[in-house]
Amino acid sequence: MKSIYDAVTALPKVGAKRAEGLHSLGIETVEDLLTYYPFRYDDMQEKSLLEIEDQSKVLLKGIVVSPAVVSHYGYKKSRLNFRIKIDEAVVAVTFFNQSFLKDKVHLDDQIAIFGKWDAKRRALTGMKIMATVNESMDSFAPIYHVNQKVKQSLLIQLIKTAFAEYQAVIPEILPFELIQRYQLMPRGEAMLEMHFPSSAERRAAAKRRLAYEEFFLFELNMQGMKYLNKQCSGNALLYDNEQLKAFIHTLPFELTTAQKRVVNEICRDLRQPLPMNRLLQGDVGSGKTVVAAICLYAAYLAGKQSALMVPTEILAEQHYQSLQNLFAPTDLRLALLTGSTNTKERREILQSLANGSVQLVIGTHALIQADVHFFDLGFGIIDEQHRFGVNQRQALRQKGENIDLLSMTATPIPRTLAITAYGEMDVSIIDELPKGRQPIQTRWVRMNQFDQVLDWCQQELQQGSQMYVICPLIEESEALDAKNAEEIYQRLQSYYSQFNVGLLHGKMKADEKDQLMKGFENNDIQILVSTTVVEVGVNVPNATMMLIMNADRFGLAQLHQLRGRVGRGEKASQCILLANPKNEVGEERMKIMTETNDGFVLSQRDLEMRGPGEFFGQRQSGLPQFKVADLVEDEAILSVATSDALSLWQNHWQEDEALAPLRFYMEKHRLTQPFD
Ligand code: ADP
Ligand code: MG
Repeated sequence: MKSIYDAVTALPKVGAKRAEGLHSLGIETVEDLLTYYPFRYDDMQEKSLLEIEDQSKVLLKGIVVSPAVVSHYGYKKSRLNFRIKIDEAVVAVTFFNQSFLKDKVHLDDQIAIFGKWDAKRRALTGMKIMATVNESMDSFAPIYHVNQKVKQSLLIQLIKTAFAEYQAVIPEILPFELIQRYQLMPRGEAMLEMHFPSSAERRAAAKRRLAYEEFFLFELNMQGMKYLNKQCSGNALLYDNEQLKAFIHTLPFELTTAQKRVVNEICRDLRQPLPMNRLLQGDVGSGKTVVAAICLYAAYLAGKQSALMVPTEILAEQHYQSLQNLFAPTDLRLALLTGSTNTKERREILQSLANGSVQLVIGTHALIQADVHFFDLGFGIIDEQHRFGVNQRQALRQKGENIDLLSMTATPIPRTLAITAYGEMDVSIIDELPKGRQPIQTRWVRMNQFDQVLDWCQQELQQGSQMYVICPLIEESEALDAKNAEEIYQRLQSYYSQFNVGLLHGKMKADEKDQLMKGFENNDIQILVSTTVVEVGVNVPNATMMLIMNADRFGLAQLHQLRGRVGRGEKASQCILLANPKNEVGEERMKIMTETNDGFVLSQRDLEMRGPGEFFGQRQSGLPQFKVADLVEDEAILSVATSDALSLWQNHWQEDEALAPLRFYMEKHRLTQPFD
């Protein structure tokens, strides 16, 4: 029996060679071909004349308002001219060397013309007159991403063949009840409309159906992982609540309401006999470390070992120190393990982890090396989790049995992205900063004002403040980064001769970096020039100035992270963005930074301006690629699809006979299965 999961070679006239061409476009099965949607159309059904791109091919419909006139010129050359009215605009139409078309142009009649648009002259160079106005619908010409091996015309031909052969067997996979509820177009029809729209309205309906389907399937998988995770057994970490409270009382400050709430959420998970998989989001400076400390202590009280993994050595060191302070009044024993831990020490630490005499280890990727074994790891925390790949997270998980895992991030992620990128996790949010924080004032100045900025900073420095100066990473070359930072460093050294200036960059060895950071922490160094290595986690409350060179080269989320390095003490802090943005969008981005300190607002704007791909930058994001759905535009669809998918799991969809095609789809796409 025919099935759309057949390989493309099942289609007539598709042999090995064409299959290979299609493979180069990522098309393996008939289904892939049917869903290889065009990225745009040569049409203009919805656009007003002003929106049509210059020199693009369009179909215009209007009323003929001047008689057609043929003029001859040169050798056998002719020009046919007339005007049409579209809404209230009059457009001049010219056909070259097709004077015979004159008979098709009748004054006051409707006409549909396919041609090339000249935006400046508001004129159309005609290529074809459509036989009837309705036939013109065929001329929504789809445009696909193609390559040398497969040309547009061949692809269109193959897609048409695929529909001719298979449209009858395209399975409906969505539950009937949902199709009814949202009045969704049938699946096969929607697929066809995406390629060859019969009208703008029908195409929009097709898109709505397919966007919903895409989000729904994605969420069915996500919610399935979450749901099934809740069926599998984990460890119930039954700590003594009174002892945990006693520890909380030893903390140097009162927790914020938000901190209390997330501590409760996490501790509730710890007590459950299920493996926790939770994301803790909190803006920079919102106090995630202390939340982590409380939960780590709970695990300790429950008799389990814990691991805290962070992306950089500086951060590991810093966490180690602050946790050492917080746990000083307790018997919890902790260790620091990084790439620069020396051999002897490392051997000792590995031993104490294996025999259980150390209950908490803090470290970098060094923690997930093969020779690290735990006596009884029950709880893992990954700080700045977006800096780790899926495999690294998994590796930490596998250091114990069904451990509870908490991932922390300071990058506020817009809701839609959080659901999609981290949909298999539960989310806790710290949406409040500790009291008494001075808001950070942000200013944007042009590069030529660098000297004035330095003058102004001098006054602050003289009052005992410290300052970060961040130079952007120049992508292709670490050497160039260093040079750029080096130049600034030298300039500041001579400018601020009465202060100590330090230079920190990616090429330095870990212990050199550490030494510099310590110098900055102790205020032996007042000005720290750095590439973005200080981006994450660093905490020096006496630093109140953040100067960012070429700020327009950074993403908003990253600028916000950098800005979060200041504003950590009692004194008011400043962030100064030096930038000559190249365009309006760049200027807009700098302006937004000066207008809000709210990471969630910024991340939403960043998402809108740059799109989801750019938002996470080059780093691994786990963000899925959607063919039809758009994370920004279709946010509302995503949220209904999410709850529909969850309720399907809750209603035991594996038992529903009518949903066999959906199960088959999930299987074919290797998605989470009931009874997996
Ligand atoms: P982040 O969420 O960025 O990791 P940290 O955990 O580094 O933030 O906390 C930033 C600073 O705020 C630290 O100096 C920490 O001691 C302090 N802090 C955390 N919670 C509170 C609180 N409830 N009240 C006062 N200060 C706090
Ligand atoms: Mg932190």
